[in-house]
Amino acid sequence: MAINENEIAALVQQVLKEMTGKEPASAPSASYSAPSGGGDIPKNATVAMMTKLQHFELQQYPIPELGDDDILVRVEGCGICGTDAHEYKNDPFSLIPVVLGHEGTGEIVKMGKNVKKDSAGKPLNIGDKVVTCMIFKDDPDITMFDLNKQNVGGADVYGLLPDDDVHLNGWYSDYILVRGGSTIFNVSDLDLDSRILIEPCAVLIHAVERAKTTNILRFNSRVVVQGCGPIGLICIAVLRTMGIENIVAVDGNEQRLAFAKRMGANETVNFMNHKGIDALAGAVKDAFGGYLADFAFQCTGSPVAHANIYKFIRNGGGLCELGFFINGGDATINPHFDLCSKEITLVGSWVYTLRDYATTFDFLKRAQAIGLPIKELITHRFPLDQMNEALETNLAQKGLKIAYVRKDLI
Ligand SMILES: [Zn+2]
Repeated sequence: MAINENEIAALVQQVLKEMTGKEPASAPSASYSAPSGGGDIPKNATVAMMTKLQHFELQQYPIPELGDDDILVRVEGCGICGTDAHEYKNDPFSLIPVVLGHEGTGEIVKMGKNVKKDSAGKPLNIGDKVVTCMIFKDDPDITMFDLNKQNVGGADVYGLLPDDDVHLNGWYSDYILVRGGSTIFNVSDLDLDSRILIEPCAVLIHAVERAKTTNILRFNSRVVVQGCGPIGLICIAVLRTMGIENIVAVDGNEQRLAFAKRMGANETVNFMNHKGIDALAGAVKDAFGGYLADFAFQCTGSPVAHANIYKFIRNGGGLCELGFFINGGDATINPHFDLCSKEITLVGSWVYTLRDYATTFDFLKRAQAIGLPIKELITHRFPLDQMNEALETNLAQKGLKIAYVRKDLI
């Protein structure tokens, strides 16, 4: 006997009606997995192509036929990264013409027949919300668990790929073609803002994992976080979700320091109010009630800030330096006074591993559950036809996190 899903749904509705005497509020789902608002797939995708320095141009390209391992994603949004701002300003990676955007997320609207699971083993279906992380161009068999200790820095990433004849290579677009062998995660249980923040948050999950290897960071540690841009603010939030409560934030901007308090810092120090490093170190000590920090996170890109931070740390303390995503120049320290005689344990941190990426999804849920205003990090949202304005806003250092968000979702 052949009976299709529609007939089953009608039968169930009939039975429910007889049981309750009224129409069910909505049709019971008989294992439908229809796209939630993906709509019809257009012939062409629109990308924001960076055609020259500081210039994006909307261009249309046909959405190609999907290979058996490919996934077509309708883009919902994408964060603007410092890396994008560098590329926009100077093209240091020589990528022009390029479709930028690597902190993106969207909804699966079409999949090749071989696609069943994401990189963590979670099922993938039409309508699922996803993020990408990197592309295993050279080794398609690698899995996230093999990459547990391997930093993904230097890997190929959507949004930092040279243009090719597909063109749908970056998230500053309305559709992206995720090709077989790419890392993709099903993050349907996170809202759009959280999904846009995954990539920068993964940087901090990794940094704190690196910090933990020193064995100095404990629940009751006194921790100083220097720099309250998005990275420093997320750092405070990650520490808070771990149960570390004695946090002092250092920055030169009162607004950012106020936000740092809402993220979980219990004291703040504005370095503008203190002349010279000794006075500043004294202020940090006062903020901890007369003690130096057990551990410090350096979250600015300033070499002077790197040199200063040793003065905030007690003998035998630890430091995680994560502020230099790119070359910011040389810092001058005194190895005897700053490092050796104090027996400081120093770790550097850069990018993240795939495992850290997956850990980040849980961090975002925990941060929201304890009421941290993580989503307020996104201060500006621009549609695709205003990518030039979006990047200019980033370069002008206005707000915190700037994002491209699809027009109907802003
Ligand atoms: Zn980024």
